[in-house]
Amino acid sequence: MNDATTTQSSTETKAKNTFSGILVNKDEQGYRAALQHIDQSMLPEGDVSINVLYSTLNYKDGLAITGKSPVVRQFPLVPGIDLVGVVEHSDSADFKVGDVVINNGFGVGEKHSGGLAQKARMKSEWLIPLPANFSPKQAMIIGTAGYTAMLCVLALEKNGVTPEKGEVLVTGANGGVGSFAISILAKLGYTVVASTGRLDESPYLKALGANEVIHRDTLSGQGKPLAKERWAGVIDSVGSHTLANACASTKYGGTVAACGLAQGMDFPASVAPFILRGVTLAGIDSVMRPIEDRKEAWLRLSEILEPSVFDDIAQEINLEQVVEAATKLLDGEIRGRVVVNVQGE
Ligand code: NDP
Repeated sequence: MNDATTTQSSTETKAKNTFSGILVNKDEQGYRAALQHIDQSMLPEGDVSINVLYSTLNYKDGLAITGKSPVVRQFPLVPGIDLVGVVEHSDSADFKVGDVVINNGFGVGEKHSGGLAQKARMKSEWLIPLPANFSPKQAMIIGTAGYTAMLCVLALEKNGVTPEKGEVLVTGANGGVGSFAISILAKLGYTVVASTGRLDESPYLKALGANEVIHRDTLSGQGKPLAKERWAGVIDSVGSHTLANACASTKYGGTVAACGLAQGMDFPASVAPFILRGVTLAGIDSVMRPIEDRKEAWLRLSEILEPSVFDDIAQEINLEQVVEAATKLLDGEIRGRVVVNVQGE
């Protein structure tokens, strides 16, 4: 074999053993995320190997990629808390080669490499089959944001918040969780009030199903322990004063589902709404949620969501555009959902 042939064959072997993906690293050169060729040997332990088709960008992925918050707890790591893909190899009786599977959370994209790469390997118990009436791309448009919005709606339902009880407030309305929460609630017949910092996006929010749009400044400042009763229920992805004010203005017996911290992690509230109005504060965690709850949430999503919502809510990017889009997401310049075509050019 001559030198040229040897070089060509070693390049081909390298190409075969690597795949494209975003890699986050932290060492003496600092914190950084970049699109790279990743060696197959860097795939983590797991009984199922997946050819990833799509991933997404969630708020948490924005934090992981920019390093603005300590989301990533092991380096180097592929971020991406959501993925959909085709099983390439399986040592699990639950999945076979060719099955299309989705993953949301379980520490994937935080301490176990995630979806923002062309290949992934993980534990079969973290996977659920793609629901029959969603395409892979639609499942990722929903992603953790839509699934979390559904968990919030389920919490309202389980606490007796029916459409007849009155208005439901959705904060962080232009975000992924907020957009899906509006869409799901509207489809179920609730009267939805959307709170946003971007009033110019009101037509989009109304198209999703919001009956009224209010400015988030009305909720984001220091408030009183109790305010005029208005909301039968709340879905809050913002935290801080907004969550405190939402609780203070929830009607007697209402429920507030709290899932996010876009304004802040603090909760400067009093116990007054809980002990004087019987308000329920329902904490929503999507990451470690048991698999049966996930299946229930995905089943409800598949029953409720109209196909048109996917075109309204999503924009598609490829892996090369991920790092820039992550910064825009944290700067509040993106509305709805970003779906990442990891095999796309
Ligand atoms: P997005 O970035 O898509 O949306 C966040 C939205 O919050 C923005 O679009 C903006 O809406 C609003 N917002 C941003 N900054 C502020 C601020 N300073 N004050 C008030 N509102 C603000 O994020 P996601 O929808 O993906 O996630 C939303 C939150 O939910 C995040 O904190 C995320 O970490 C959390 N989350 C939690 C999960 C869980 O398991 N508990 C799962 C998924 C998400 P607008 O422009 O309309 O004002």
